[in-house]
Amino acid sequence: MTDNFDIRKQILDSDKDVEKALRPLSFGDFRGQDKIVENLSIFVTAAKMRGESLDHVLLHGPPGLGKTTLSNIISNELGVGFKITSGPVLDKPGDLAGLLTGLEKNDVLFIDEIHRLSPIVEEYLYSAMEDFRIDIMIDKGPSARSIQIDLEPFTLIGATTRSGLLTSPLRARFGINCHFEYYDESVLRGIILRSASILGTKCSQEAAREIALRSRGTPRVANALLRRVRDFAQVRGNGEIDLEISKYSLEALNIDKYGLDEIDNKILLTIIDKFRGGPVGLTTIATALGEDAGTIEEVYEPFLIKEGFIKRTPRGREVMPLAYEHLGRIREARQNELF
Ligand code: ADP
Repeated sequence: MTDNFDIRKQILDSDKDVEKALRPLSFGDFRGQDKIVENLSIFVTAAKMRGESLDHVLLHGPPGLGKTTLSNIISNELGVGFKITSGPVLDKPGDLAGLLTGLEKNDVLFIDEIHRLSPIVEEYLYSAMEDFRIDIMIDKGPSARSIQIDLEPFTLIGATTRSGLLTSPLRARFGINCHFEYYDESVLRGIILRSASILGTKCSQEAAREIALRSRGTPRVANALLRRVRDFAQVRGNGEIDLEISKYSLEALNIDKYGLDEIDNKILLTIIDKFRGGPVGLTTIATALGEDAGTIEEVYEPFLIKEGFIKRTPRGREVMPLAYEHLGRIREARQNELF
């Protein structure tokens, strides 16, 4: 039991190490999101030329698209320190004060899941972002008083998968706002080939394409699939990744042809089976699935819409023929189509 646990932990740790090794470290290594990278590299160069901190940056988009990676790159390119935390971890203003006072001139503070900051910590962040100044309480009881502390100028980079949950005062304090899009097959293929070469594994173009097509437009998924296919290639093949071994491994891993995950499929099946393909309102779908409506709207739905599985209509969400075909369901004729 313990042995199994240890082995699993070792695998997870080594996966984490591999993931770290695969992270691009400069704008040049980061593929895709061209417009974002192009603009950011101008803003970074300008800030460096002026010797100032870069304006605060908000990065939003679905998970695994490179928000953390790009934040790290920004600090590398600025040549400054990088501190990382996340919204749910900062539950008291004191936690944030500790981090802020430890920052050096022009450093980057990265807050992941910034939509999950508690309102009191969020409010505390406002003056830090705007005036590089915070109030801290010293002493307790009757002699308690607050003093103002000046901070070094810094850049806050906030990342969120749920930009709809950000309050408008917080959103307004970011001078640079970037929305991440899903990656297309050719960019993902490039990422997979780069990762394979870092891992020292030969991977053919066709194999990389096959893996890319099943990666849900997401580099994190692409790298994870590559690592698993590499395992199959090592044990069942000659160590090299070709089209045959990648098809075999992806089949064995039960990865769906379009790269949809369990929740994507559940959303489609719910609309088809419970609501005759729609149109059905988002909150109704969310209730049927026991999921949060905002998460479906901001995290899952954009990919399903982009790939043509569902469409948004004024009366709600409707499944498209591709979803029926993919899930092997027959589309019932609607009443108004019978006449
Ligand atoms: P997010 O913060 O958006 O959830 P991450 O930055 O953690 O995503 O990215 C997940 C993984 O995907 C990283 O380990 C990195 O190796 C890889 N990755 C993400 N974006 C890119 C990219 N544009 N080019 C190469 N690799 C990428």
